[in-house]
Amino acid sequence: MRSDLGKLTADWSDIESVVLYGAGIVGGICQTLFERVDLEIPFVIDQNKKKQGTLWRGIPIISYDEARPKIQNRKIVVMAGHTAYGDITRFLNEQGLVEFKDFCNVGHFMSEWLWSAKQMNCVFHVDMTITTKCTLNCRHCNLFIPYHKEKVNFSFEEMKKSIDLFFERIDFVTYFGLIGGETFLHPDLERFIIYLGETYRKQIGKITVITNGTVTPPDSLLKVIKKYDMYLSISDYTNVVPYHKKIDQLVERADKYGIDYYRNSSIVWTDFGFPEHPLKRTPEELEEHLNSCRPNWNALHGGKFYYCNVSWCAEQSGRFKLQPEDYIDLEAIDPQDKAACRKIVELSRGTSSFCRICGGCGADNTNYVPTGVQM
Ligand code: SF4
Ligand code: SF4
Repeated sequence: MRSDLGKLTADWSDIESVVLYGAGIVGGICQTLFERVDLEIPFVIDQNKKKQGTLWRGIPIISYDEARPKIQNRKIVVMAGHTAYGDITRFLNEQGLVEFKDFCNVGHFMSEWLWSAKQMNCVFHVDMTITTKCTLNCRHCNLFIPYHKEKVNFSFEEMKKSIDLFFERIDFVTYFGLIGGETFLHPDLERFIIYLGETYRKQIGKITVITNGTVTPPDSLLKVIKKYDMYLSISDYTNVVPYHKKIDQLVERADKYGIDYYRNSSIVWTDFGFPEHPLKRTPEELEEHLNSCRPNWNALHGGKFYYCNVSWCAEQSGRFKLQPEDYIDLEAIDPQDKAACRKIVELSRGTSSFCRICGGCGADNTNYVPTGVQM
């Protein structure tokens, strides 16, 4: 199995203090992670002037210029998503800093450093598709929903089994996403959230439910989302589909219940190619592509852990067959054997055979398409 772990230089092993970079959405998701890690954090760097002078978990947020003389020999952990991390890497390289020696992404940090320093098996981002039924039919859906031969709500028992198997083997997940299709169409969503929240909340940094805002959820569902301090990500496609009233009402109700949410109306979409015109990369092109698309959207389904949720969706659509190395059957790993469980973390930083034909979401995919256009 190919994995990007093992890259941190030896001097990361005895760090006692670390500088964080990025107090945005990913920084918020990472708060509970750093509550569990016994490291001094003297300050957090953020280049957004509105954040400078404010606090992150009680820690001052300052600019890079202000931080530069104070960093000394400390390592920097960047709390940013895939695209922003690329921009920050370029900036830090210009400052003479080297990735994996002077800084690394938080996903890499928790996957590699938490094992070597604390013997914790941690995964950064896991998605679970709870339904492939959707109210919309987006041509360029990166989960290929319009092309699935069969649309299903996965049963509560199957989803429960998957998370039980997973959390018996993994100590902590920073981000756990419940995604669709349209999640609010699943009749057992509330029951599943209660089980997840009651049983595993302490092992998860942030649980997120993603919705397109077309379905009106019951009050009881919004109450459990608030109860377990979950994040509601509302994808807004009203620029092409007229459901303004529904989505506005959802936003109002999220405000009323005090739910932490984000209404995302500026999502940039690229064409992943599959299944209508899949790419045919040469081994050299694939190598280059793998350096570009490393979203680490791991997936959990049917008792198996997958490197990429996009690849799982391709297989679920009935139009692609994954290879055995693309996933791990969790039941085959002894949960008491921490070294064996490490295979899950390694795959979380791995690759998938689907990458060969998938446009992906890296900087090398410039086939931009209009967001939300319906079939
Ligand atoms: S709303 Fe989301 S899940 Fe549904 S088809 Fe569109 S992109 Fe796919
Ligand atoms: S190229 Fe690979 S890693 Fe990127 S989205 Fe596609 S399957 Fe996932």
